[in-house]
Amino acid sequence: MKILVTGGTGYIGSHTAVVLLQAGHEVVLLDNLCNSSPVVADRITEIAGRPVTLIEGDITDSDTLDQLFRQHSIDSVVHFAGFKAVGESTQYPLPYFGNNVAGTITLLTAMTKANVKKIVFSSSATVYGNTAPVPYVESFGRGQTNNTYGLTKSMIEQILEALSSSDPEWSIISLRYFNPVGAHESGRLGEDPAGIPNNLMPFIAQVAVGRRKQLSIFGGDYPTPDGTCRRDYIHVMDLAEGHLAALNILKPGIDAINLGTGRPLSVLEMVRAFEDVTGVKVPSQIVSRREGDLPEFWADAEKASRVMSWKAKRSLNDMMEDTWRWQLNNPDGYKITE
Ligand code: NAD
Ligand code: UDP
Repeated sequence: MKILVTGGTGYIGSHTAVVLLQAGHEVVLLDNLCNSSPVVADRITEIAGRPVTLIEGDITDSDTLDQLFRQHSIDSVVHFAGFKAVGESTQYPLPYFGNNVAGTITLLTAMTKANVKKIVFSSSATVYGNTAPVPYVESFGRGQTNNTYGLTKSMIEQILEALSSSDPEWSIISLRYFNPVGAHESGRLGEDPAGIPNNLMPFIAQVAVGRRKQLSIFGGDYPTPDGTCRRDYIHVMDLAEGHLAALNILKPGIDAINLGTGRPLSVLEMVRAFEDVTGVKVPSQIVSRREGDLPEFWADAEKASRVMSWKAKRSLNDMMEDTWRWQLNNPDGYKITE
């Protein structure tokens, strides 16, 4: 198959591109490079041992999309492109609706024109909302989210549902990610956030490598076993393989599937695991809670196993080792290494 990967030079898209190439698919990446580097395409090719095509362009630009679909006979789309910073989304809602929601509508319109009606969409556990019981099960409805980013994911899922009911030829899977961490085991691909990382794992890695002084742990008084928040951290390569599994079962209709491990880990457990695996101390301090954080959530991972024979198989040690290899080999991300 020939697969279009939007946001393909980003963190999750790049790892997924490697998995798709290694499974024998042809891959076209579309990325406007607003949060990634063109170097990533070379590294994908290097790891997979097969070329990948990078088109620098924007999902909000219908001319670019129409031309792309004319030039390449795409079978399916894996749609990662979007903005993802939760705090920023609430401060600047319009660019988030514009890029994530309007961008997806432009993409779906171009796909309709080109008669490409298969899509796997990057959704998020955030669509379960603020009050869902844990673990999160796909049969729960979507809940009320407290940030614009979450709202865009929820809106896109609803747009996809409307499209599916309007035209039964569409094959659609929304994958609801939990907390992706880690890097490709080669140490050549990983997460390279611009500026101060919002997410826990890149922050830990940047403290360990000496780029930041200490980790602030947001809240030590949550109703969890050690008082810090718990999440379902999943290795990015397991997540990437989840996309291949989803493409393999795509059929007319629409479905939503969790990609998680089914196991919650606390912030303190993550810090300790990183220190144990790497032997590097991560100075940290418990500070006040971060607005909007939920005490804990994790996936019920049964559906993914049942409907697409996929399970997260990498260990917590793998997550830590691979993060550290990536960070050590690329202390400043993709910037000055090539
Ligand atoms: P990322 O920022 O590393 O990758 C997104 C890529 O999309 C970037 O390379 C960026 O340059 C590109 N992009 C953004 N807007 C674009 C546009 N208009 N046109 C073309 N390219 C554009 O993020 P990621 O962590 O790889 O996340 C990928 C997807 O997964 C996103 O949709 C995100 O919301 C979703 N997701 C991520 C997480 C997470 O924790 N990383 C969790 C749940 C869901
Ligand atoms: N966290 C933290 N310090 C940081 C970044 C994150 O203590 O510098 C905590 C955060 O409060 C949450 C967990 O780590 O409980 C995971 O946060 P992240 O932003 O990585 O993912 P989220 O689950 O919020 O999407």
